[in-house]
Formats: sequence, C-alpha cells, structure tokens
Amino acid sequence: MQQQNAETYVVTTEPVTEGWHVVHRESCEDRRDVLMETLGAFEGCAPAMERARERYHPVNACPTCCSACHVAADEVE
Ligand SMILES: [Zn+2]
Repeated sequence: MQQQNAETYVVTTEPVTEGWHVVHRESCEDRRDVLMETLGAFEGCAPAMERARERYHPVNACPTCCSACHVAADEVE
C-alpha cells in the first residue's frame, strides 16, 4: 500500500492542554517543549488519533496542525 501523503504523528506523553494529551504532526511548529511519543506515519489525523487513544486518555488534536481533528474545549461535555 502506498502512503504518499503519510506523515509522522506524535502525542504528548503528559497531558498539556486542559488535561489533554495532544496529537501533533511531527513537523508542527506549535509543539511545546514536552516529551512526545511517536505514533507512526498516517495519512491523516483521524487514524493517528485512534492510535493515540489506545495509549492515552483523554486525547485531543493540536488546533494548529490537526485542526480537522481538534475538538474545542467548549464543545467537550
Ligand atoms: Zn501541532
């Protein structure tokens, strides 16, 4: 299977934003100076989020690099 558009995603090993573990693209410029665990290469943020949820809870996506998967804090129950 070709993964021409695959990009490496990472997740913070500690909760950083309002208690969330945050998923970023490896290339994200908004990554903070915290430890990251590599999730692997995915063609989009959705499968990366699924992988992250297998390891951490709760998980959210970076609003800068993964806006399609980001859930705003005021939308969370
Ligand atoms: Zn990011």
